[in-house]
Amino acid sequence: SVVVTGATGHLGRLVIDGLLAVLPADRIVAAVRDKEKAADLAARGVELRLADYDRPETLDGVFGKGDVVLLISAPEVGRRLPQHTAVVEAAKAAGAARLVYTGVLGGPDADFVLADEHKATEQMILDSGLPHTFLRNGWYHENYTAQIPVQLEHGVVGSAGDGRIGAASRADYAAAAVAVLTTDGHENRAYELSGDHAWTLAEYAAELSRQSGREVAHQDVPAEVLRDILTGAGVPAPFADILVDVDVAAIGRGLLEGGSGDLSRLIGRPTTSLADAIAAALAA
Ligand code: NDP
Repeated sequence: SVVVTGATGHLGRLVIDGLLAVLPADRIVAAVRDKEKAADLAARGVELRLADYDRPETLDGVFGKGDVVLLISAPEVGRRLPQHTAVVEAAKAAGAARLVYTGVLGGPDADFVLADEHKATEQMILDSGLPHTFLRNGWYHENYTAQIPVQLEHGVVGSAGDGRIGAASRADYAAAAVAVLTTDGHENRAYELSGDHAWTLAEYAAELSRQSGREVAHQDVPAEVLRDILTGAGVPAPFADILVDVDVAAIGRGLLEGGSGDLSRLIGRPTTSLADAIAAALAA
């Protein structure tokens, strides 16, 4: 079987959709911590198995011998390494054939705070000896388009200078995951996944202006100012620091620009453009 963790999340649901298009439903397992939330997946014939990263005893029996496992990185920063380790240990003990992990663009070279747990997770997977595939995901367009209501009010504010973001849509990354889960030749390989055309925050603001018909300014501010804006908007200070670090240490230094072409090659089509991502978000 193909077992997908985080299957009730945004990326996980898109992966399950993609798997259902190429595999019989009875070969797909959704590992979820809340089966009620996954009732629609069960209705489509996908098997549900309870898996809570924080309760390792629930991971016993989630994976079977020969399974291909997609570990979608957990969302809670600071808690991810032990959570990921619990999954990898359970997959290894069960005799899984391969573990696919959604890490971060740059892999071991990603020297910014948010990448730390991804790097530690990749190393932990290497140390486990499990055959693996690393999907080193760049940023989602949705990280920005989810903020459109705020951006239409206050403009686009960042501290990334003219750093470029090689973003793609979640659906693009999901399609890449489906490809490496269901085709051969990906064992012990790492893919650097990013959008075909990287954009700056100024270009993002200009495209949003064009499509919305509203004036959306881009403002590049010093790190301390961005931190104050984020905390003022209710972002907890430790996470605000991490977001500022993403702008200054990652995007500002070009670490999220990408450009390998791995993503469009894996999915066999161009990645979703910024214009299309903004149009989809405005239509939603
Ligand atoms: P979501 O937050 O939508 O999904 C996260 C999934 O993890 C959910 O299914 C959630 O379950 C599950 N989960 C959380 N905690 C546990 C737990 N203790 N045990 C079992 N399952 C758990 O994130 P996305 O799908 O949008 O993104 C996937 C991952 O990619 C994120 O978790 C994060 O690591 C990373 N990410 C990457 C970004 C990028 O730009 N590349 C941006 C944002 C995140 P439930 O549905 O029950 O809550």
